[in-house]
Order: sequence, then C-alpha cells, then structure tokens
Amino acid sequence: MSQITEQIHSSQISDILEKIIAGNRPNKSEILRLLKSDDVHLMGLVAGNMTQKRFGRKASFVNNIILNYTNVCVTDCKFCAFYRPPGDAESYTLTLDQIKTRVQTAWDMFEIRQVLIQGGHNPALGIEYYEDAFKMIRTKFPKIGVHGLSASEIDMIAKVERTSTKEILSRLKDSGLQSIPGAGAEILVDSVKDVISPKKISSADWLRIMEEAHNIGLPASATMMYGHVESQEDVAQHLSQIISLQEKTNGFMAFIPWNFEPNNTLMQKENLVKFGVGGMHLLKMIAISRLVLDGLINHIQSSWLTNGVGMAQIALQYGADDFGGTLIGEEVVSCTGARSTELTGQKIIDAIHQIGYQVEERDNFYNLVRMH
Ligand code: SF4
Repeated sequence: MSQITEQIHSSQISDILEKIIAGNRPNKSEILRLLKSDDVHLMGLVAGNMTQKRFGRKASFVNNIILNYTNVCVTDCKFCAFYRPPGDAESYTLTLDQIKTRVQTAWDMFEIRQVLIQGGHNPALGIEYYEDAFKMIRTKFPKIGVHGLSASEIDMIAKVERTSTKEILSRLKDSGLQSIPGAGAEILVDSVKDVISPKKISSADWLRIMEEAHNIGLPASATMMYGHVESQEDVAQHLSQIISLQEKTNGFMAFIPWNFEPNNTLMQKENLVKFGVGGMHLLKMIAISRLVLDGLINHIQSSWLTNGVGMAQIALQYGADDFGGTLIGEEVVSCTGARSTELTGQKIIDAIHQIGYQVEERDNFYNLVRMH
C-alpha cells in the first residue's frame, strides 16, 4: 500500500481518496471533484484494491437470456435504435409460446439462471400478458429467476390498466416477478431526460417506482447511462440520488454504469453525440462507482455489452466485481451495431480466467451456483 499512499499524497483528490480508504462515503461535491479529476489510474488503483479486499481475486457472472419481448414503443427515445412505432412493418411482439420456446432452449443449452425481460412501451399489452409469461416461467423453470421490466415499463402498464404502479408491481410480484432491472434511469436529471427521452418518466417517478418495488420486497439493479448530453454535475446528482434511495431502502443489489452507444440513433443523426466515450471514460466511471458505492450497493457490474470483453477484463481491476450476464438474444444494443452482443458462459469463464481470477457463476440474487 506504500506506493499507493505516495501516489495518493501527490494527487489533487488525495483528501477524498484518504476519506474513502478510512471508510467514509464522499459527499456530492466530493463526487463531483472525482468526476472532474484526470487521475483515472489512481482512482482505479484504490477502487481495485477495495474490490479485492471485499471479493478477493474473483468475479461473478450469470448465465442468462434477454427477452426483448416487443419492439413496439410510443416513447421515441432519441438514444434508441431498437424500437418501432405501432403498426410498423418491422414491429414484433413475442407470443407466450415463443417466450416458452426461447426459455426452454436456453435452459436446455445453457442452464440459464435468469431471464432479463425488457421491451418497448407497447400500448397493446395489458398486465395479463406479463402475468402469463412470469407464471409460465416460474412454474416450468423454477431455477430461472425473472428479472424484468424497467420502472418506465411498469409505468406504461399502469397507464394501460389505468391503475397505480404500486398495484401493478404487487400483481407482477404475485405472478412471479422477482427483481427489477435498472433501465430507464439513464441520468436522473430531468433537464437531461428532456433532451434524450422527453416522453419517458421523470427522475422522480423512476425513484418513486423503485422505492415502491423495494418496499414490497422486489430488489433491483440501478443503472447509469452516460456519454451523451450529461454534465459532470448531472452524474454527481445521479449518484447522490441512488445513494439516498439505497440508504433508505437497501433495495439495490447492483450498480451498472454503461456508456451510450450512438450508432444508428436519432441523437447521432441530430449531431447531439458524434461518437461513444470510449475505454478510459468507462474505467473512470467503474472506479468512481466503486469509490462512491462500496459497502452500500454490493455489486458493481462491468459493461461488456458496449465495450467488449477486453475492456470488461480491465474493469474488473478498476472496481467491478461482476461480469453481468451472457445476454443470449440481446436485440437492443445489437441494433446499434456495437460489436458482438452474445457471449456464452464459457467465453466469460475464459475471459475471467485469463486475468487470473476465480469464476463464480451466480443466480439472479447473486447466490453461488458453482465455481468454475
Ligand atoms: S429506450 Fe425503451 S422506451 Fe425508449 S424508445 Fe427504446 S424501447 Fe422505447
């Protein structure tokens, strides 16, 4: 630690890093100073050290599929290349039989432990569609966790059913929903949302729906999509709000920062974003996530989906402890043309072994399935 201590002393963020090493969480203005700092490797060194103290030389992953059950959407987010308006020739909605076939195939081939269910805001789908799907999966495949529906999809179902999001969450939980993905948060600042997704739920609504979910025993992931029109102040605000909610509910199992991939999106066409932010920025965000959330949110996930396996390997040394899922069948990021969006479990296992780490295959709730 002496080499680290020396480097910390000569850094402009030394006071914050020392505070974190002493076990104290940085406040919002200190988070902002971390974001403004270029000492990425130093932050990574400290964050990587904290991660190894907590997890050892070990990383986890989950064998999963993504069910992008419909691409029909009325919300027109500018960062999205996936959706199609109702009635479009390229629109689709999976039937219950198609869902069953996909899950069965994935169970037979990969023994998946999670189905990540996400789709567009499709006004033609009432709550029975989701209830039938969740009941079928939990009944036929009891070892597979149902991790589904972002806060904004839950809001959409509530609008279709003309009822409250609380009521929807409770019915979905009763039918087999077990946890909620963090999508739809993007950056929890409305001036950012007004530019990138003006028709989507507000930051306050995202936080409220997450709190409602936590309160009825539905844990969740929190995400942050960066690398578009947000400022560093906005990122600090996003992290502060996640911290506040977690201090209140302890309902987030993982934090997943991922960078926006602009190809084929309206934001690129409108010149709001020309290119992705790249690897250094990713490492900085992973490191800051660990520095800021360690001990509060258990897991920090590296994003291989938009950055590839090599970068995810490095991220494991900068603060991430989880590789995420195999994401068989992913269709949203695939629409941006961002590299390979499917990994088999074996490729993830090899990637983690390549950096000399042990591999823990986990389930939906981060419980051990087996060591590899
Ligand atoms: S990100 Fe989701 S809500 Fe936004 S347009 Fe795409 S599918 Fe619809």
